[in-house]
Amino acid sequence: MSTDQAIDSEYIEKHREELDHPLLQLFQRFGHGHRRWFVVGVLASIGSRFFSLVPPVLLGVAIDALFNEEAGFTLPYVPQAWLPTTEMGQFWFVVGGMAVAMIGQAGLIFVRSSTLNLFSHRVKHEARTATYQQMQRLDMDFFNEVQTGELISILSNDVNRLEQFLDSMMGELIQLIVLMLGTAAFLVALNPQLAAVTMVVAPLSAVFTYWYMQLAEERYADIRESVGDLNSRLENNLGGIQVIKSSNTEEYEDQRVEDHSYRYFKLDWLALRLSFVYRPGLRVLTSLSFIATFIVGGIWIIQGPPGPFSGELTAGTLVTFLLLTQRLVNPLAQMGNIVERYEDAKASTKRILGLMSLPVRIKDEPDAVDLERVEGHVEYDDVTFSYDGDETVLNDVDTDVEPGETVGLVGPTGAGKTTIVKLLLRLYDVNEGSVRVDGHDVRDVTLSSLRGSMGYVGQDNFLFDGTIAENVKYGQFDASREEVIRACKRAEAHEFIENLPEGYDTDIGERGVKLSGGQRQRVAVARTILQHPAIMIFDEATSAVDTETEMLIQRSIDELAADRTTFIIAHRLSTVRDADTILVIDDGEIVERGTHEDLLAGDGLYANLWRVQAGEIEDLPEEFVEQASERVAQQALDAAEDD
Ligand code: ADP
Repeated sequence: MSTDQAIDSEYIEKHREELDHPLLQLFQRFGHGHRRWFVVGVLASIGSRFFSLVPPVLLGVAIDALFNEEAGFTLPYVPQAWLPTTEMGQFWFVVGGMAVAMIGQAGLIFVRSSTLNLFSHRVKHEARTATYQQMQRLDMDFFNEVQTGELISILSNDVNRLEQFLDSMMGELIQLIVLMLGTAAFLVALNPQLAAVTMVVAPLSAVFTYWYMQLAEERYADIRESVGDLNSRLENNLGGIQVIKSSNTEEYEDQRVEDHSYRYFKLDWLALRLSFVYRPGLRVLTSLSFIATFIVGGIWIIQGPPGPFSGELTAGTLVTFLLLTQRLVNPLAQMGNIVERYEDAKASTKRILGLMSLPVRIKDEPDAVDLERVEGHVEYDDVTFSYDGDETVLNDVDTDVEPGETVGLVGPTGAGKTTIVKLLLRLYDVNEGSVRVDGHDVRDVTLSSLRGSMGYVGQDNFLFDGTIAENVKYGQFDASREEVIRACKRAEAHEFIENLPEGYDTDIGERGVKLSGGQRQRVAVARTILQHPAIMIFDEATSAVDTETEMLIQRSIDELAADRTTFIIAHRLSTVRDADTILVIDDGEIVERGTHEDLLAGDGLYANLWRVQAGEIEDLPEEFVEQASERVAQQALDAAEDD
């Protein structure tokens, strides 16, 4: 697949589908370092199963040689010279052999469980952390496309599914294989002809299992996807709980969640129904094997060898056969469970690896250099950009910002102002042209040094659960309390923080819900100040706050802007009035540029926007009003299309 393709849901889905041998890949990626636990676990599994086969064999021999005295005291695969010759000696040998086998089995079960569990938990831990680390580095395209709930579902549900398979089912699968091979080896050694009767169902079971796996694979993939959808819905609703309550849409949301949950239930049920057929089917097949062995063996003992069979069969051998076959029934019926979990784990692994292997385009080039001592010279050189490869969002944007300069970006909503600064932060790469900082193309420098040189304050800044001080220090974790306080003072936040019950140590709740919008904004400004960025970006930083807070934030913006390159995106033109240069953006292009006075004198879009904000609506030219209403109509249309 070409990496130029946009990362949309279709791409992600296809990418996931195309993964071959997901569980094998999972092992190679995460299991490699813990192979020894896996190997010990497998060996212990084999040993414990071997021990479990010993008692029935000893019992059969005891019946024939000691109780019925029908045959000599011989054991499969054991040299005659090792066996005792007296009857009581042989009896105690059988008792001792059974005891050793039982104790040995218990010991090996302990070893098996601990090693395989250790292995699976390690794989799970590594898969989870590696998936998270990789996810964090994926391009913004990905996050625009994939819902948070879906990602959480992968990191928690899907990773947990792996454990269920890896520690219990995989152990059982290995044991089952060992049991089948071991049983077959004993049966063949005891009586190859009767063994053929017992094992005739094996190929039938294999075909039956294959049929089931084919059907189950798709169903489990659908289930995992529906769990992701359900989680996304829940995550969305809990995040928007305030909107739901205030718009009185509880019933509507009840229904939406119910629909998603019902879809999950239905898909789950479909898969279960399939296993309801498979499991008893498998049991019937193994029971058939038991019955066939009993019929052929019974006739053999009563009437001598039936049909094509020849030779002798003792009652003891038949008992061993029946006991061993019986021991196969339950584990074989378990096969259903194992295959089910296997398909489930495969679906989960595809989701995990599908995410792990998505291409990352915005990353450090191999020869990327660190931006050092950034002066803040920013150039946009004929930049053209589109989010989806279709619709051009920025067209030939060209500007040169000297170190220390303050640039105001104004223009109608959707004009492309935020996109311009996103390109500077290299959240996206330009399609044509280049963005340069101190003469370096942003694609040629390391992301950490590039982003580390910039501070960004948006309209609604995310604060993490924790205290005020922790949030201010985010990114500068070793800052001292004095530095935090100094930054908060400069951000005009110190006073309100001091008035909180526990000052800087006040817990602000999830996403900072316990603070007002204006307070959150000032904490975010303080956080940025502490980073001492060479370039500051304020993106509508004051548009969602009250007039007083706006004044306070404006003061800190002015102070910060004084000694560094600053970009201010503002809806309210008074915010950028004093900027060295104002760029007026319309429909992805810079349509006017200059100082406030220049632009007013030019009497263009800026001058008209200024009149709107000054309340001089009567003086607006007809053409401007027409364009504005067209734009608003277009936005409504776009919004409708997005829904
Ligand atoms: P402004 O900041 O001037 O309001 P933006 O830069 O946010 O405008 O958006 C410019 C255009 O790009 C708009 O038409 C918007 O719909 C579109 N856009 C913004 N972000 C994305 C995105 N992540 N994916 C696709 N289109 C986007």
